[in-house]
Amino acid sequence: MVRVAAAADLSLIAYGDVVAGCERCALAATRTQVVFGSGSPDAELMFVGEAPGFHEDKQGVPFVGAAGKLLQKLLEGIGLTREDVYVANVLKCRPPGNRDPQPEEIEACEGHLFRQIELIRPTLVATLGNFATKLLSGKPTGITQVHGRAQQVVLGGNPVTLYPIFHPAAALYTPRMLQVLEEDFRRIPELLGRAFEPVEVPARDEPAATPAPPAQPVQLGLF
Ligand code: URA
Repeated sequence: MVRVAAAADLSLIAYGDVVAGCERCALAATRTQVVFGSGSPDAELMFVGEAPGFHEDKQGVPFVGAAGKLLQKLLEGIGLTREDVYVANVLKCRPPGNRDPQPEEIEACEGHLFRQIELIRPTLVATLGNFATKLLSGKPTGITQVHGRAQQVVLGGNPVTLYPIFHPAAALYTPRMLQVLEEDFRRIPELLGRAFEPVEVPARDEPAATPAPPAQPVQLGLF
């Protein structure tokens, strides 16, 4: 198993090296660097955002700004870290001034995302906001309508559960959206097929042989 994981890792790294020189669209001229993606190369859970912002463009890592801090906090809330998951974007290069991705940029870049999904083979892909949701669902329905609704799709040749949720950047400024994002996030362990271990309560008159285990979720086992 270790050898399989290492091979997947190498292919993803090799592909990242290729994408680092990408000139498929005009963003190549204004970027500091390509922001390919980060995290576990064999993650079961993958997040797809919109595009790198100022900090991501400087550091070469997705979601390192304020939205990234919220993503990290939400992950910690379900017992995961950034190293357990893989995080990427629809666009690998920063649009100037953080403007919306343009259709021709998405078209030029989408092959990189599909190849990443093919190499990582996640079982659950959480799309953050409208751009990732529309691209990966292949449907024009916006995030406000579809958030929190898991759907089965085929991505990178594999069956995947697609789970659209609000973009953390949007939730930063809208308390109601943050609340919905937190609620949607709490369903992720269940969508990964993880159950919460029931706490065994001894019968009333029976002395407990050992103290009851703490009411904690089962280890998510993503790594
Ligand atoms: N940072 C990213 O990497 N992607 C986003 O969509 C937003 C912030």
